[in-house]
Amino acid sequence: MQSDSAPSPQHFWRQEAAFKALAEAKDRGRLARSYLFTGPTGAGKWAAAQWLAKVLLCEQAEAGNRPCLICSACRRIDQGTHLDWHALLPLPKVTAEDDRVAFLKAKAADPFAVVSFAKKPNLAIDWVRDLLAELSKTSVEGGAKVSVIASADQMTLDGQTVLLKSIEEPPLDTYFILTSSDPARILPTVRSRCQTIRFAPVDPGAIASRLIEMELTDPEDAALIAQLCGGGWGQAVRLADEKLKAWRQTVSSLWNEAFMGSPGSLIAEIDRSFSKNRAFDEVVQAFDVWGLLLRRDCADSVTDHERPNAASGMPVLDMDTAWACWRILQNGRATLYVNVMPRSAVKGTFLALRRRLGCQ
Ligand SMILES: [Zn+2]
Repeated sequence: MQSDSAPSPQHFWRQEAAFKALAEAKDRGRLARSYLFTGPTGAGKWAAAQWLAKVLLCEQAEAGNRPCLICSACRRIDQGTHLDWHALLPLPKVTAEDDRVAFLKAKAADPFAVVSFAKKPNLAIDWVRDLLAELSKTSVEGGAKVSVIASADQMTLDGQTVLLKSIEEPPLDTYFILTSSDPARILPTVRSRCQTIRFAPVDPGAIASRLIEMELTDPEDAALIAQLCGGGWGQAVRLADEKLKAWRQTVSSLWNEAFMGSPGSLIAEIDRSFSKNRAFDEVVQAFDVWGLLLRRDCADSVTDHERPNAASGMPVLDMDTAWACWRILQNGRATLYVNVMPRSAVKGTFLALRRRLGCQ
């Protein structure tokens, strides 16, 4: 049984501030109708959304302000089968139903799991409309209705505009929880209607220790993964997956050589690594790894600004350049979700990075 004050590690591992903000709002009867949970992929935003849904839908609410975690409602939220818990997430259109089931199953097993798909997912505007139509009805079980929109930044602008009307005037007893690891892509009008809860990147040391403790990887790899995961536990678990290890090494070495050699050899390397058959989620992961390597290179620049970065050919970065490079990577990652060949997106990104860095 968890105590009233301690965050359940199952829902809020190393996210005490987020837990405190939500728990205090509940205690004071001040829960917002719309939340935006932001933070690194795998930091526990979905887990926290599940916890908040349990707070609102638990059948043993008289036990206090915390959900019991064991009643039928709490368990059905874990399984994704509670009829007043509506989950919307980006899915590949053709295989949507199978992928949705797989996603909910993975999240039931571990709410921190980072789930990816072989085909390009999107958050179709029709699905947003369907969700809002559902929420406009009375609740099935007689209590509140709770909706989570995962990776809300993947909604189109039209989808966000449709959603905006509902969060401005939410239907009776309806709560919205949006999650995003890239909230800059959410309309300011939507963001301003939501109360933002930040999930901080977890300290790499804590992640490495937990990886070793749970025997998910050997100590040497644990330190590297903890650096690469961007502070999200779920992302660390995913990176520890043996199947992804070789791919991670390929994209890491591509980054390390991208700013030293000629553009020609870089393009040839991209052609080799990003064949037509490369799965969509692997391409996305490549961008994530590069984002994390950029972050590592920046941290190295701050702590060791006398010499060029030892780990890669990337020159020492000032804040403006680092930020510009970060946006180039984020934009490149975003173009994967529109009609651009992954290989072209990768090439365009690296050429833009080289230009920004003044590489010959
Ligand atoms: Zn309960």
